Amino acid sequence: MKISNAKVDTLCVHSGTKESKEGAVVTPIFQTSTFKFQSAEHGARLFKGEEDGYIYTRMRNPTVEAMEDAVAILEGGAKAIGCASGMAAVHLILAASVKAGEHVICSESVYGPTVTILKDLFTTFNVEVSFVDTSKIENVESAFRTNTKLVHIETPGNPTLVMSDIAMISEIAHKRGAKVSVDNTFMSPIMQRPFDHGADYIMHSMTKYLNGHADVVAGIVVIKDITEYPKFRKVSNLVGGVIDPFNSFLVHRGIKTLALRVRKQAENAFEVAKYLANHPKVEWVMYPGLESHPQYSMGLKQMTGHGSMISVELKGGYEAGKKLMDNIELFVLAVSLGGVESLIQHPASMTHASMGKEAREQAKITDGLVRIAVGIEDVDDLIAALDRGLQLV
Ligand SMILES: *Cc1c(COP(=O)(O)O)cnc(C)c1O
Repeated sequence: MKISNAKVDTLCVHSGTKESKEGAVVTPIFQTSTFKFQSAEHGARLFKGEEDGYIYTRMRNPTVEAMEDAVAILEGGAKAIGCASGMAAVHLILAASVKAGEHVICSESVYGPTVTILKDLFTTFNVEVSFVDTSKIENVESAFRTNTKLVHIETPGNPTLVMSDIAMISEIAHKRGAKVSVDNTFMSPIMQRPFDHGADYIMHSMTKYLNGHADVVAGIVVIKDITEYPKFRKVSNLVGGVIDPFNSFLVHRGIKTLALRVRKQAENAFEVAKYLANHPKVEWVMYPGLESHPQYSMGLKQMTGHGSMISVELKGGYEAGKKLMDNIELFVLAVSLGGVESLIQHPASMTHASMGKEAREQAKITDGLVRIAVGIEDVDDLIAALDRGLQLV
């Protein structure tokens, strides 16, 4: 499909789709582990890279490639590599871009296992790591060491929704010879395109918005500079944490409605956030679209929408949070986000439990914090459910 200067809604529907000689409108599921060579000579040419073609699904598969192309186009990158999960994508970025004796700066408010993989796994390979509040540029500057090779940021960060300035961090990092990777899971390419602000690598947990239907675990790494692609693809081929053809098909199908879903979710979230901010049992609400958010104006520089994640602190603390979760209707008590259904969860006892209380407190993940992932339901029903739930806390 040739698309010239298409806008994002069009790109969501058409990007990546492969032409087939049968005329399939949707890229078929090539549910095959391996591909037949026409001759010994043909196989030899494929292995030498003298001819373009498929060899083995861990390395390359048409259904996977179609989905990868779609995400690369939406993010404005050169190439993308599908991964078995968002964590496999975090691992791929780290394994491809840092070696023993080198240093990583990471946002302190990030997805819990991202902290743990750096702290408990990569340090055993002699990779140094500093966790800092990357929303303050002076913290990022002072964390640099002579051996810093990567700055990994999540913005808005999980679950505090603190935002970091991608352009400023990229400028500082590049001056010091380091690369910048952005976990763009919370925004999706519809609301934030980190390459436009100077980032080098983007990753997503496609389990969330990109697939959008809470039925797939998958991740992706997008690379801006084509010359860096072989280094990443080599690690992916060797480690083998790749996405399979069927999940790629489902994610690619999800991407067709990505723009519609993400915008509706953000509209709902804005209404829910305003409702909660005025509720007498609520201490505070953190939503990137509320002017009360401390980095509201920074967000306007790099985001074209505010997502659908809301953090809310109830006046009744831990007990109130627990009561709300046990009594609320409609909202599903479950971790994850970005699906069509609204979810609610408690980070201190769930997603961020493995960080430990001390690290949580430093990252401002309080015991009474409740995280809401807003779906595409009718917003009146969502607000009514919260209203009834909050009467019981
Ligand atoms: C869920 C998530 C991940 C991890 O993704 P999985 O698909 O669960 O492995 C990483 N980063 C963020 C921001 C996430 O929300």
